[in-house]
Amino acid sequence: MDGMKTPVALLLAHPDDEAFLAAALCRRLAERGEPAVLLTATRGDAGKRGSELAAALGRRLGEIREQELADAAAILGIREVGHLGYPDGRLAEADEREAVERAAQWLAVRRPSTLVTFPPDGGNGHPDHRAISRIGTRLVRERRVPGLDRLVYIGSETLAQEGRKEALALDTKAFWPAKAAALAAHRSQRDTISAYFGDLSEAPEAWRFERFYLAWEDGREWP
Ligand SMILES: [Zn+2]
Repeated sequence: MDGMKTPVALLLAHPDDEAFLAAALCRRLAERGEPAVLLTATRGDAGKRGSELAAALGRRLGEIREQELADAAAILGIREVGHLGYPDGRLAEADEREAVERAAQWLAVRRPSTLVTFPPDGGNGHPDHRAISRIGTRLVRERRVPGLDRLVYIGSETLAQEGRKEALALDTKAFWPAKAAALAAHRSQRDTISAYFGDLSEAPEAWRFERFYLAWEDGREWP
C-alpha cells in the first residue's frame, strides 16, 4: 500500500473503530501530509429501545460519542469526519442500496482513491461491521465514486486463514502515544477499551499490528 494515492477514506461502523483498528494508519497518513477522511455509519448510540427515556438516552449517548470521535480524529490527524446516522446495532436492517448511495455521495465530494473498510466477516463478526463491509465493497466495486478504485480491508483471522496476502502491517509501537490518546478519547467506552488494551500504557502484543489487505483494485480482485 506504499504507492497508495490520497486521500484515503475510511468507512467504519462506530465511533472507536478507527482508534481500535486504524489509528497508526491515520497518524502515518497525516504525517505524510495525506490526512484521511472518515465516514461512520452510526453514532454508537445503542441503548435499550422501546421507551421514550431509552430513546432520549440513546440520542444523548450518540451526541457524546460524536464528540469523543471528533476528539480522537483530531489526535489522529483525520481531516474530516462524517456520519450516516444509522441506528447503532441495526445497520443490517438499513436499505443497503440507499446506504451505498448516501456513502457514495459523501465520498464523491472528498474524492478518495482508496477506501478502507471492514472485511466481510466484520473482523469480530459484529453485524454492523459486516453490513458496512457490504456497503463499502459494493460502492467501490460498482465504481460509485469517480476515482475511487481501490478497496482495502482491515485484517481479520478469516482473511489470514483464506491465505490472502497482507498489504501492510503497521507496528503501533511507533504510534502508541497517539493511538493510546485516541482510544482514551472514547471516554464512554473505557471499560470495553481497557478489556482489549489494558491501561493503555503500552501496546498489548495481541493488538500490536494494524493489518490491511488489498481486496480489489481497478477491476482486479485480490491483485
Ligand atoms: Zn465497531
